[in-house]
Amino acid sequence: MLIVMNRNAPPEQIQRVVRIIEAKGFTARPIPGGDRVSIGILNNEGPVDPALFLGLPGVKEAIPVTRPYKLVSREIKPEDTLIQVGGVTIGNGHLTVMGGPCAIESEEQALTIAAHVKNAGGHIFRGGAYKPRTSPYTFQGLGLEGLKILAKVRERYDLPVVTEVMDNETFDQVEEYADIVQIGTRNMQNFSLLKRAGLSKRPIMLKRGMSATLEEWLMAAEYIMAGGNHQVMLCERGVRTFVRHSRNTLDLSVVPVVIKESHLPIIIDPSHAAGVRDQVIPLSRAAVAVGAHGLMVEVHHEPQNALSDGAQSLYPDQFARLCADARKMHAVVRAES
Ligand code: PEP
Ligand code: MN
Repeated sequence: MLIVMNRNAPPEQIQRVVRIIEAKGFTARPIPGGDRVSIGILNNEGPVDPALFLGLPGVKEAIPVTRPYKLVSREIKPEDTLIQVGGVTIGNGHLTVMGGPCAIESEEQALTIAAHVKNAGGHIFRGGAYKPRTSPYTFQGLGLEGLKILAKVRERYDLPVVTEVMDNETFDQVEEYADIVQIGTRNMQNFSLLKRAGLSKRPIMLKRGMSATLEEWLMAAEYIMAGGNHQVMLCERGVRTFVRHSRNTLDLSVVPVVIKESHLPIIIDPSHAAGVRDQVIPLSRAAVAVGAHGLMVEVHHEPQNALSDGAQSLYPDQFARLCADARKMHAVVRAES
C-alpha cells in the first residue's frame, strides 16, 4: 500500500504515519515527490487496512499496490526517475550514450578509446576492470589497476565511468572509483550483491539476467531500492534463445512494458545482444525508436587485438555514426511524444 500525503504535509504528520506503519511490524519507506511525500508500506504479508491511515491529518489517500514489486513500480511513483551523474542526466527526455571497451586492457588503450567516445558525443565511458568470463583461462580484467585507469579517463576527458562489480568483496573498491556501478547479467539474482548495492551511494545499472522474466528483473531492482538506494537503471542486453544468427536475442519489446510498469530508466546494450558488430548500429536505432533512455555500446580502436568481445566492438568511426543516428532518432521520438 502507498500512503499519499497532502501537498506540503509537515514532517510531524509524515512521522506519525511512519510510526503507525512500524507499530504494525511493517517497514515504512518515505518517497519524496515534487511537493508531496508518499510513504510505501513494505514487508506486509497480507493486505493492509486503509482505515488505519485515512482520516489522519495530512493523509490524502491510501492506494493498494497490486504488483509484487513496490518501490520499482509506477503505482508507487508515477513520475519518471531521473539519475544525475557527473553532469549527465539519465532518464525520460534524455538520450545517454555510454561507450568504451569490454575490458580495460591498458592505460593507453582506455585513453585512446575514451578520446573517440568523447569526440563522437558519448556521455559516459564504459569498461570492465573485473570481468566475468566464461572460461577461467581467458583475461579476467586488470582489477584495481583497471579502476585506477578509469579514474584517469574521467579526469582527462570529463566522462563519468561505469564499470561492473562482480562480488561483495570488491564492492567498496569498485564504488570508490565508479560513477555508476554495473551488476552484470550473471549476477542479476545474486541477492547478497543486490543487498550491498542497496547500501551504495552510487547509481546502479542492473542488467537483465540472460533468461530472466520481466518480473524477476524488476524484483531484483526492488532488492536494491528496498535497501535504500533509489538510483537504479535497468539494462536489457539480450536474452538467450534458440537463434544462431546473434549471440543473444535483443528483447526490444520489453522496453515499452518496462516503461509502463516502472519509473526507472531503461538502457539498451546492443553489443552483448548481437555478438557481432554489424548488427549493433541497426539495433541501436531501433532501441531509441522504441523509447529506450540510453545505449551502452562496446568500442575498440583495434578490435582484432581486443582481449574480450572484439567481434562485437565497434570501430571508432562506427561509434560516431551510431551516436549521430541515435541523436536523429531521438529527435524524431521526442517530436512524436
Ligand atoms: C559487460 O557489459 O561487460 C558484460 C559482461 O555484460 P553482460 O553482463 O550483459 O554479459
Ligand atoms: Mn563485453
